[in-house]
Amino acid sequence: MIPTQRDIQAFFQIWRNRLLFKLLTIRRLRRRKKLKRHFQGSFSHEAFPYRYSAGRYTTLFLAGLKEGKLLASRCANCKTTLVHCRQICGNCFRAMSEIVELLGTGQLISYTQVSFPFVDPFTGQNRPVPYCYGMILLDGADNAFQGLLNVRYHHHLKNGLPLRVVFHKKRKGHIGDIKYFKILKTIQ
Ligand SMILES: [Zn+2]
Repeated sequence: MIPTQRDIQAFFQIWRNRLLFKLLTIRRLRRRKKLKRHFQGSFSHEAFPYRYSAGRYTTLFLAGLKEGKLLASRCANCKTTLVHCRQICGNCFRAMSEIVELLGTGQLISYTQVSFPFVDPFTGQNRPVPYCYGMILLDGADNAFQGLLNVRYHHHLKNGLPLRVVFHKKRKGHIGDIKYFKILKTIQ
């Protein structure tokens, strides 16, 4: 049987499609491999380098952290003290101009245990879990501040426990300058 022109065309069409499919599959697999390498590298070993403007009052607070101080804004009108430093009083909406230093002690008012593993955006490394995180009412302040706690498991915690801020020895004016809040009393 002699193949017609249509048969020859169909034959070449099939082979062309097969070749194209193979080439696309190879490209797709290469891309997938490259992406996997990229994500393995960037997600587990590198921090995301970004910078943003902290604003005038948060800059004051961060500069205080560098010196090992917790600074707050105090309202001259209603005497409310808010940490961190801010421009407007949340209670009476007047401008806050007074900056005060807090003692760094306080009490735990709420807490949670973080058990889900994730990459710490500050370091680019997996943060060891579990760890505890809490809302803290600092002595002299009227609002809650949040931070890491020096315990790993929630059964070592209860509301009302006294605590104290602990700074890193080397500080750079960053929220990470606060190492953790140390619980000063153990529960039985
Ligand atoms: Zn006020």
